[in-house]
Amino acid sequence: MRASFSPLRRDILAYLEGAQNPVSAREIFKGMHLEKKTAFSSVYRALWYLEENGLVSGFSVPCDSCGKDRYFTDAARGHRHYFHCDTCHRFIEIGECPVDISGIERKYGVTVRRHSVTYSGTCKKCGK
Ligand SMILES: [Zn+2]
Ligand SMILES: [Zn+2]
Ligand SMILES: [Zn+2]
Repeated sequence: MRASFSPLRRDILAYLEGAQNPVSAREIFKGMHLEKKTAFSSVYRALWYLEENGLVSGFSVPCDSCGKDRYFTDAARGHRHYFHCDTCHRFIEIGECPVDISGIERKYGVTVRRHSVTYSGTCKKCGK
């Protein structure tokens, strides 16, 4: 691990490795009990750094209540997509990637480096 890795960055990465679902900066701040130790803005900067360096994936959620927050996952978990319930605000991991990247690259002559697809709607529990 690089020398520039601050304890906070390392701890956040470890926290995300252990998290089942995507978490927002605020949830990380609370979940790690950082209130007394560090400023919220440091958490934000650490996440930005980790995402810039490809260690963490961040995405925003098409949900009116959660839409302002970005959610983060450990990039080492690999490429995946999520369903977000806009009633109970939980995430369900969707394993399959719905995008035919090589088809798009062939058709439009572009090179795709990243894409994001997040589903939202009503989960099974809330639909009842
Ligand atoms: Zn739900
Ligand atoms: Zn939500
Ligand atoms: Zn995908």
